[in-house]
Amino acid sequence: MIIALERTVFLVTTKLARAFGCCSLPTAFPMKNPITQLLLTFALALAFQTSAGAENDRPNIVFIFSDDHATEAISAYSGGRLNHTPNIDRLAEEGMLFENSFCANSICGPSRACILTGKHSHVNGFLSNENARFDGSQMTFPKLLQKAGYQTAMIGKWHLVSDPTGFDKWEVLPGQGSYYNPDFIQMDGSRKRRPGYCSDIITDLSLDWLEERDPDKPFMLMCQHKAPHRNWSPPARHLKLFDGQDLPVPDTLFDRYENRSKLLKEHRMGIDEHMYWGHDMKFHGKNQFPEAFSTGIANAEYRRMTPQQKARWDAAYEPKNQALIEALKAGKMSKEEVVRWKYQRYIKDYLRTIQAMDDGIGRLLDYLDATGLASNTIVIYSSDQGFYLGEHGWYDKRWMFEESLEMPFLIRWPGTIQPGTKSRALIQNIDYAPTFLELAGIEAPKEIQGASIVPILKDRGYASPEWRESIYYAYYGERTHNVAAHDGIRTLRHKLMYFPRTREWQLFDLMRDPKEMTSVHADPEYTGVLEDMQKRYRAQRKHFGVNSAAIPVSRLTEDWWQKRYRAKNRLTANEPADLLFIGDSITQGWEGAGKAVWEKYYGKRRARNLGFSGDRTEHALWRLEKGNFKAVEQPKAAVVMIGTNNTGHFQQAADETAEGVEKIVAKLRHRFPKTNILLLGVFPRGATSEDPLRKLNHAINGKIKALGAQDHVHYLDVGQAFLDDRGHLSKDIMPDLLHLSPKGYAIWADAIESKLVQLSGFPSISS
Ligand code: CA
Repeated sequence: MIIALERTVFLVTTKLARAFGCCSLPTAFPMKNPITQLLLTFALALAFQTSAGAENDRPNIVFIFSDDHATEAISAYSGGRLNHTPNIDRLAEEGMLFENSFCANSICGPSRACILTGKHSHVNGFLSNENARFDGSQMTFPKLLQKAGYQTAMIGKWHLVSDPTGFDKWEVLPGQGSYYNPDFIQMDGSRKRRPGYCSDIITDLSLDWLEERDPDKPFMLMCQHKAPHRNWSPPARHLKLFDGQDLPVPDTLFDRYENRSKLLKEHRMGIDEHMYWGHDMKFHGKNQFPEAFSTGIANAEYRRMTPQQKARWDAAYEPKNQALIEALKAGKMSKEEVVRWKYQRYIKDYLRTIQAMDDGIGRLLDYLDATGLASNTIVIYSSDQGFYLGEHGWYDKRWMFEESLEMPFLIRWPGTIQPGTKSRALIQNIDYAPTFLELAGIEAPKEIQGASIVPILKDRGYASPEWRESIYYAYYGERTHNVAAHDGIRTLRHKLMYFPRTREWQLFDLMRDPKEMTSVHADPEYTGVLEDMQKRYRAQRKHFGVNSAAIPVSRLTEDWWQKRYRAKNRLTANEPADLLFIGDSITQGWEGAGKAVWEKYYGKRRARNLGFSGDRTEHALWRLEKGNFKAVEQPKAAVVMIGTNNTGHFQQAADETAEGVEKIVAKLRHRFPKTNILLLGVFPRGATSEDPLRKLNHAINGKIKALGAQDHVHYLDVGQAFLDDRGHLSKDIMPDLLHLSPKGYAIWADAIESKLVQLSGFPSISS
């Protein structure tokens, strides 16, 4: 009764506050109201009695989640060096803060998929944000909670392309969503534009759902903010926060990327060069200083604003913008000063959006208090990954360096977690699903790769001796921001990274070098540490079933590869083809040393060369998965020969490479069920049969020949045709003992011709 009364008081006042606009809503509302305070005391007392009387009541879960929130921008973590987040901090004061909380893949969609499934990206299938779509038919924790009688809701940013599954109620932003007057996708597929500021609306919708739900059932609410994602557009009420202050600049703002992989220099996420004049820096009109700002993307948020919103926006930004324009025109600012100005613009906007979100979290916590729900509700705050706030000169995420590897994780569980506790246990986003399941009394399916942290919560933050000693991380590479694919592990003290493109190890001693400015992988002092970390890395990959040969991955960060991919994509979309060649540089070489032979054999057969130099099985797999084959309805035949780079680059185990080949064949059969696949054994390499890489290729063939038993798949090993009687390769046929000469291509074409004619129905060349 009292709870109901209090809830009504809360709602009426909330609605009044909303009527006056969110900016008039005090953060601590309604706690400042003495009547409310009194009612709350009764409510809490009653709620306490209720929960004490029914110990078996399953707890509710409120999972508050944001996008790109670095721990450095939460005062409970940073001590308030940059900003103050009083409401998020409440969870630390009343609950537990995890100091070593990490993501499995530092990017929006993939992190969310890891959370929903409790599995690494290569298992849940959502590897990157490029051309990806979450398979919502798989097991997720909301589905299991729903099945066990929980009411489930998902409000806010979803960002997994497919519709949410496993929720009684959902209302989500399309894609990245907007800060101002955002659109929301409804459960019937329609879109609704909601006036106001995104973080406030997500809070309001969450409160509405809490109010409307069935009070007799436990619930799980996912309240997922867009903030503080790029382009960091603050609400009117916080536009002037930090005005007149110079926020501290990170020591590594002018990092020159020495003593680490050269891949760091390829990034396109620098505050110095990659901030847009309109989108990021909030200038209107044409870019007046292209040497200092990127051109191309305007501030789309501004276009969404009402005249009133625009007026407040311009009043805040325009005087500062005009002052900078004048200073630059007068030649008064050095290059470094411009970077510092951009950093201040960026960091202040970023923090302003966080302030608005923190206001909303305060309202949500107050609601739980006021309604008495707080005592039996577990509240979590986390973000999909961290973010660079100028460290290494960057914004954005992706790298396995600390700032973006970290995820904030704060959790309040009244009566179980000792208030104000900190845990040093290594936890990861794949642990959330099994944790939520255990909280709800549901047994976690065996397929889940994470582990429940409930025992840590119950034991004052201490992990058992059996708890993991390292976490595994993998980023699969995207064109956006040009960060190369890498994976690695992190223990409490060290971090090991591996970059397959350059085949480089990086090792960091986080105690001596917390800012990760020097890789010590080649330092003799660290030989033992490197070996130990590599051993752990291999063990982790084995444990999680990571076989890089079978995980589709792009090479879009390499310019030539991207160009070739796009060109082939256009071709396959526009021109029909009857014959496909799929492979690596040996296949690509049909356009070089093999050109004349190609003309003779395939010039009139509508053949397409899909060979990409340096491709391993995982890259060909990605191309087949993402590539556009619109015009290639059902080619008559496809010739596949790949795997020698898995051997050459990594000396990858034959069964791993064979699994990659198997997936390529499966992908082809799926896309072209009527096409006959001519699967070739990987060509011999090296001078003699004793060559270790030749042996590996031979072992791959031993595994993949069995694929020929499948319908429409024919296995053929033509390797012998390149060898002499003693099994030697001559430089006449393979000048570098790997790639073919024109003579080699003639041997290849001749060796497969009769089989190809048989499979495709092409008229024979000689006839
Ligand atoms: Ca994100």
